[in-house]
Amino acid sequence: MRPSAEGDPTPLDPAQLGTGDMDPETFRRHGHAVIDWVADELSGVGERPVLAQVAPGDIRSALPTVPPRHPEPFPDALRDLDEILLPGITHGNHPAFHAYFAITGSGPGILGETLAAALNVNGMLWRTSPSATELEEQVLDWLRQLLGLPEGLRGVITDSASSSTLTALAAAREAADLDVRRRGLAARDEVPRLTISTSTQAHSSVDKAAITLGLGHAAIRHVGTTSTTSVDPLAEIAGLRDELAEELGLRIWLHVDGAYGGMAALCEELRWVLDGAEQAESFVTNPHKWLFTPIDCSVLYVRDPAALTRAFSLVPEYLTTADEGVTDFMDWGVQLGRRFRALKLWLVIRYFGAEGLAERIRTHIFQAHRAAAWCQGHPDFEVLAPTPMSTV
Ligand SMILES: *Cc1c(COP(=O)(O)O)cnc(C)c1O
Repeated sequence: MRPSAEGDPTPLDPAQLGTGDMDPETFRRHGHAVIDWVADELSGVGERPVLAQVAPGDIRSALPTVPPRHPEPFPDALRDLDEILLPGITHGNHPAFHAYFAITGSGPGILGETLAAALNVNGMLWRTSPSATELEEQVLDWLRQLLGLPEGLRGVITDSASSSTLTALAAAREAADLDVRRRGLAARDEVPRLTISTSTQAHSSVDKAAITLGLGHAAIRHVGTTSTTSVDPLAEIAGLRDELAEELGLRIWLHVDGAYGGMAALCEELRWVLDGAEQAESFVTNPHKWLFTPIDCSVLYVRDPAALTRAFSLVPEYLTTADEGVTDFMDWGVQLGRRFRALKLWLVIRYFGAEGLAERIRTHIFQAHRAAAWCQGHPDFEVLAPTPMSTV
């Protein structure tokens, strides 16, 4: 350490500073205020405008241009949340929010987020928190059962369907046995063109994955003429995969994107939406879309986890453990540090129960049918696609 010059800031005595965090009693007091704030927001959101009421730059110009030099009272920040930030919030929780697809949150999901933040564990290795890993494995097996999928599928939580699809397609690229992991794709004349065939209605996340993985946007072939929120005939597609693979000697990886619609399978009578998904190499569905779990929480299921670890496992010395027969989720994708997202999903499933979840999804679909009927009967509206789910 260099000698302290006159006027240099000196560190506080650690005994005096403690951890330096908010002390537990202060935390309790502000915590109660925050929970009250959340309860008020949930009960009062319907009275606010749905859309943010601001012009570009309004929010930033209301915020100080420099960070505070000295501590500020916590309630001042809560006041600014109300006065400065709330006007710039578009309320996805609002009963009149009808844009995009659902992103459904819930009370138990919000509380789960809070508990995960409090524990602040890192689910990268089994060793870094066995509960985080094993709860994730068990809850994803629960979700598999809720969706009527067969045993043997293994799941991992990611931040988004875009990440889940990217992860699956990276595993598919590695499964092509072209040694891409080691040698890459550039300047290799002997590598055949890798293509992705997908529906014309596929989500843009598939295009992004092709771009990110170096396959190129031109690698995407659009097949099929499915219309919005329709469900691809998965079993037929899986059969076609097998035929083509055999006849033409192609290696084909079938990835199913059920980010939104997959959750319909929670209802017995809608199980058919996933018929054939069990034959896919990988399948993604999003609890943060239609399973009452606050964003973010996506689940990637695979039939063969080794396909993921072949693509992603890279264990530096300092992360090597002697634990055997355990799952280290850092080997299943790009992320090393991982949030304890399984906790909120666990609370959601426990709080509502399988029947409660199905009832809610059923009710959403019923409401969508009503809305579609109103549109059909109204001269100013036209319904552009069938309404098999909750999207009109
Ligand atoms: C919403 C959606 C996505 C993207 O989900 P993110 O979690 O936002 O990445 C992908 N595919 C489908 C079918 C979707 O509905």
